[in-house]
Amino acid sequence: MTVSSNVNPNEIHKFGSMAERWWDPQGEFKTLHDINPLRSEFIRRFTDLVGKRIVDVGCGGGILTEELSKQGADTLGIDLSDELIDIAELHGLESGIDAKYQKISAETLAEQQPESFDHVTCMEMLEHVPDPGGIINACAALVKPGGMVFFSTLNRKPKAYLLAILGAEHILKMLPKGTHDYKTFIKPSELSQTARNAGLSLQGMVGIEYNPFTQTFSLGKDIDVNYIAAFQRED
Ligand code: SAH
Repeated sequence: MTVSSNVNPNEIHKFGSMAERWWDPQGEFKTLHDINPLRSEFIRRFTDLVGKRIVDVGCGGGILTEELSKQGADTLGIDLSDELIDIAELHGLESGIDAKYQKISAETLAEQQPESFDHVTCMEMLEHVPDPGGIINACAALVKPGGMVFFSTLNRKPKAYLLAILGAEHILKMLPKGTHDYKTFIKPSELSQTARNAGLSLQGMVGIEYNPFTQTFSLGKDIDVNYIAAFQRED
């Protein structure tokens, strides 16, 4: 698959059309706001962020990108949605953080700036591209040898269909209908294998669990639905 074809324009349009509501903590992207402190906590288990150069791939409106900047990283967020890059830049100005944003694909940035980033993050994005392996390879190419790459995505298990699609989209209405498509979900074994082929070795993986009674998220052992993983690029 060529670099320019590894994007689903419908996905970019879907997210871009909701750009203005990206930062509403009670809006369509409430879940991303809710899980953000957990993602930051997980990342900081593996690295200190102060002064680190990080690229956040598929950054959307910049929820994680800003958090990484607040933790002291020198952060670049990339996405293919014009609307989202605009919203991310605007929100960064309002927040007074100095993250930079660019509309560019991970593959093109990897060609232009290989081995240039201390760490790479790519959250809740792999399940929205035609060829997730291409993004995983690009992330491996972007990071410096020895650096960390963090991915989060949804597991292709019936339980994920029940909770992330039926539960979250249709019953609890935590996510807009049509946010996710079960067949694009990725098993942890598939993620690990593709990453290993790209020179990334698995360092840790945890589930992002939802408790419907307390309506809160936590990191835990259950990787059947949403999970986050840390990989290290071989030297
Ligand atoms: N990573 C962010 C946003 C996740 S939503 C977060 O977790 O907070 C998925 C994002 O992936 C959207 O912003 C969408 O525009 C982006 N995206 C989808 N396909 C992409 C591609 N091929 N290249 C770059 N970004 C893409």
